[in-house]
Amino acid sequence: MPFSIHGIAVGSGVVIGQAVVDNNTHQPIEHYYIHPEDAHQEWQLLLHARDKLVTELSFAIKGLVDKSEISGILEMQLMLIGEDDSLMQMSKQWIQNHNYNAQWALVATLDEVVRQFNEIEDDYLRERKEDVKQVVNKMLHYLQPDHLFTSQSAGFTTPDLKESNPHMELILVAQDLLSTDIYQCRKNGFNGFVTDLGGHHSHTAIIARSMGIPAVIATHNASSLIHEGDIIIVDSLQGVVLVNPDERTIQFYRQKILHLKLAENNLQWLCSAPSITADGRKIELLANIERPEDAQNILALGAQGIGLFRSEFLFLGRGNSLPSEDEQYQAYSQVCHIVGGLPVTIRTVDVGADKILEHSHSYQSTGSYLGLRAIRWSLAEPEIFLSQLRAILRASILGNVRLLIPMLSDPEEAVKVLQLLDLAKKQLEQRQVPYGSLLVGAMVEVPSLAISIHHFIDMFDFFSIGTNDLTQYTLAIDRQDEQVAHLYNSAHPAVIQLIHQTIKTVHKNHKWVTLCGEIAGEALWTKFLLSLGLRSFSMQERRILPIKQLIRETNTLTLEPWSTQVLASRAPIELIKRGPN
Ligand code: PEP
Ligand code: MG
Repeated sequence: MPFSIHGIAVGSGVVIGQAVVDNNTHQPIEHYYIHPEDAHQEWQLLLHARDKLVTELSFAIKGLVDKSEISGILEMQLMLIGEDDSLMQMSKQWIQNHNYNAQWALVATLDEVVRQFNEIEDDYLRERKEDVKQVVNKMLHYLQPDHLFTSQSAGFTTPDLKESNPHMELILVAQDLLSTDIYQCRKNGFNGFVTDLGGHHSHTAIIARSMGIPAVIATHNASSLIHEGDIIIVDSLQGVVLVNPDERTIQFYRQKILHLKLAENNLQWLCSAPSITADGRKIELLANIERPEDAQNILALGAQGIGLFRSEFLFLGRGNSLPSEDEQYQAYSQVCHIVGGLPVTIRTVDVGADKILEHSHSYQSTGSYLGLRAIRWSLAEPEIFLSQLRAILRASILGNVRLLIPMLSDPEEAVKVLQLLDLAKKQLEQRQVPYGSLLVGAMVEVPSLAISIHHFIDMFDFFSIGTNDLTQYTLAIDRQDEQVAHLYNSAHPAVIQLIHQTIKTVHKNHKWVTLCGEIAGEALWTKFLLSLGLRSFSMQERRILPIKQLIRETNTLTLEPWSTQVLASRAPIELIKRGPN
């Protein structure tokens, strides 16, 4: 039966594909279609993993001195995999009937079995699903390439998906995904995702948008309503997921995908057109990037440099190691080379909240947005901060590098940052390592900085308004909590006043200000931000052409009466939506 699920639209575009439900197995799972003639080989892999597990469990049971509760658990697990053949037989069906590889077949079976268990009324029996999960997890462990005998592990090279299933994209359905998971998700062949949790301005959402992956998040229960193998359409324009749609709906969406591609192509001429308003004002359009390789396309799109390089992505998802000064220097140099002499704004690490370091430190960044996040963490870990500052200083010889400090809230913090920057320079001098000059900027993303900006103004060369955080901290709304996502509103009178005051104060002091939060790339906001005097926008590369088009259509000389009305309004969003005319 077709049905739809609603959530928050993130990412871009539409994808039609087959659902792969993530079961929180916490292991890397390979999902790919096999050629039908390889089904036997995949089945052998499963048998091999099963035999290994049976040996492990039997051995463990024999070794137990006292036959306590633990032996009961192990015996139950042995029974599930040794005597009862249903897990294996169900997995075999996924291999034979759906051409799934062994790991995928096993997690698909787990999904089916867990759902069956969830329907059991008896508490004791229902909880036995935990044993099934453990058994599957252990088998997955034996299916990891390093546990397979060499001749069979060859089966793990990913064949061409398109070859075996030309029309079917894979879409990951999960309870939640971290921002770093999204890169993995793409690498593993997924072309869209759906999650139960998340907020529009979470970093997971931001990465999805920057990679152009269609996604719908904050659906509350998609991961329990969607089954493994269901055909789904992820419409990241409307924020809707259509499950098992009929043929007419699929045809409708195929047309929609074509139209979106055409509309994208129609903007290509803007790549080389100047970014200038109808009344002749030059507007700087910069790109936000997360990894050095993201810089590759931005010049072709006509971006005038990088307004935000979220350098923390060099630090995330690498287990217990951090990038050395040299490794960071290589990464920053790579970006400088790619963009030539254009500005490269490197933001120092912004870990914490939804970007937790796996590395164990004396100071742990926490999951809280109010905790040891961003510059607070860097100041708590001065050696790590100094090595990042040295790497950035060294790279500044190679291009037009700007240093950007995230989440400053107190002028005294800014003083400490600048002292450490001086120290980093001295350390390089002592080592006789050359470095260049760079401009230093502060992110305006905590209301205390926006309100007391006059205390910061002389310390910094430029400012960058981070409206993603400025909104959450002004309104006390966790940007990734889907339960309050409907209250997250960058058009709240308090937020737009802070944006307005920041732009005014910075310009009055003859410094420059850019805006690098998500609203910089949202068409709804372009005219209003221009009306506030903003002349520099930094956004995801995919947004540059549509925003440039709007800029070129706008006459800033006519915006003032409207902008005054918006600023005075109790519900500015209505007036912003209506526009100046
Ligand atoms: C912001 O807060 O607006 C911003 C650009 O930084 P991030 O989204 O990485 O927190
Ligand atoms: Mg921020």
